[in-house]
Amino acid sequence: MTKVRVRFAPSPTGPLHIGGLRTALYNYLFVREKGGQMVLRIEDTDRNRRVEGAEQYIQEALKWCGIDYDEGPDKGGILGPYRQSDRWEVYKKFALEMVEKGSAYIAFDTEEELDQMRKEKEAEGIHSPKYDASIRNQMTNSLTLSSSEVDRRVSEGEPYVIRFKIPEEGTVMFEDLIRGEVVFNFREMDDKVLIKGDGWPTYHMANVVDDYLMRITHVIRGEEWLSSTGLHILLYEALGWQRDKPQFAHLPLILKPTGKGKLSKRDGAKFGIPVFPMDWKDLEAKEVFPGFKERGFSPEALVNFIAFLGWNPGGEREIYSLSEMGQLFSLDKVSKGGARFDYDKALWFNQQHLMQTDDSILAQEAMPFLNQKGFFPTDLKMVERVCSLMK
Ligand code: GLU
Repeated sequence: MTKVRVRFAPSPTGPLHIGGLRTALYNYLFVREKGGQMVLRIEDTDRNRRVEGAEQYIQEALKWCGIDYDEGPDKGGILGPYRQSDRWEVYKKFALEMVEKGSAYIAFDTEEELDQMRKEKEAEGIHSPKYDASIRNQMTNSLTLSSSEVDRRVSEGEPYVIRFKIPEEGTVMFEDLIRGEVVFNFREMDDKVLIKGDGWPTYHMANVVDDYLMRITHVIRGEEWLSSTGLHILLYEALGWQRDKPQFAHLPLILKPTGKGKLSKRDGAKFGIPVFPMDWKDLEAKEVFPGFKERGFSPEALVNFIAFLGWNPGGEREIYSLSEMGQLFSLDKVSKGGARFDYDKALWFNQQHLMQTDDSILAQEAMPFLNQKGFFPTDLKMVERVCSLMK
């Protein structure tokens, strides 16, 4: 039997927020108590959007929450390296294989030519024109140029991208473990770039190649990636990996406290609530975004609260430890609809967990907060008694 392997694959474009933390948590709960393995993979191929300190923050936040993955950049493992920038040369070879087989092609179009094409199509009344079957034969690529011309341009160092060639007619279908059957029509898809002009892979290319090479069996990720999955399935097929295709599960959105719209990083400041596990010091904005940790949350309470944003094991009980949740977790109990982020509920979870915490531990955990307020008690027993009374 194949071992169940999942991955959490954040891009270090900022700190880990509540949505990302829940994705990591569900991956962890899905495998950890059941003998599977979890990989942390840092998807940093978008060099322009990399944020200094984000990778370290992600690792520290996962650690604080007790989400203990098996393989990752800081842990090693036989299928590494686990940071895409450390393996960026792996991807192009597979893209060129697809060019060879005819499921991808080389395109030389410049930014100006692409702009020109979009303008012309818009003038013809086509709304947000795509690089697809209807236009690829009018552009400068290996489908329209002779092979000697393509070779000449490549050997002279002309920049090019590699695009996936979406078949003209038909659909691609997959069975999502949460949503059931999902179908994409080729007509709605475009010839996505797989390898960029600078030789770096795009998210789609690197993500699929790594899921395959890291032997991932289940891809559990946010709903925002659902629309990319059609392309991902086609990539598995084009690379001849259809038998190793993982199963997919797309998690519901986390909604704003008002219940309307997706919770965003900016909602923290807007509603005066933390949306990050720990304080995030944004060096560029010279601002500190508050975290749950510094607001006095216990990590057990935070993961309990987060787990219940979209999952429920059934029954009345709500207070669970991480390992209890791991024993109960299954994807069929994850809801399809969005879950409202209710900070009052988070406070309630924290209160319940604090009440179950031993007085002596609570007293020690309270110390940094007391110090912050200018109290430096020397009698720990007294602090314990106060904690007990407060409980
Ligand atoms: N790097 C993507 C992200 O930032 C990963 C999406 C996926 O899990 O496939 O969320």
